[in-house]
Amino acid sequence: MAVYCTRCGNALPPSARFCSNCGAAVPVAHIAGKPLMRPRQGRQIAGVCLALSRAYGWDIAAVRILAVVALLLSSGLVGVAYLAAWIGIPEEPTPAPGVYPPGV
Ligand SMILES: [Zn+2]
Repeated sequence: MAVYCTRCGNALPPSARFCSNCGAAVPVAHIAGKPLMRPRQGRQIAGVCLALSRAYGWDIAAVRILAVVALLLSSGLVGVAYLAAWIGIPEEPTPAPGVYPPGV
């Protein structure tokens, strides 16, 4: 997927953070290295909120509060979306043996 500079329209490689033509910062919503995955540690239910907050750089507390409020206001629709995300978002790969779980 090509990335284009928002200032000059120059085509950039997907990994580019700055435009090679005008030097403008490239807004990357999904930076490589932070894939959408449900972490094994720090999760409350299935790690969906944590996965979203990590992947997009959102505050985890804000994501959880919004999720709960949206769940109450949507009469269960967000709950269905949560279940879909639970199924759709892959779980973080298991770390090397001996690394996880710590302190158990
Ligand atoms: Zn540019």
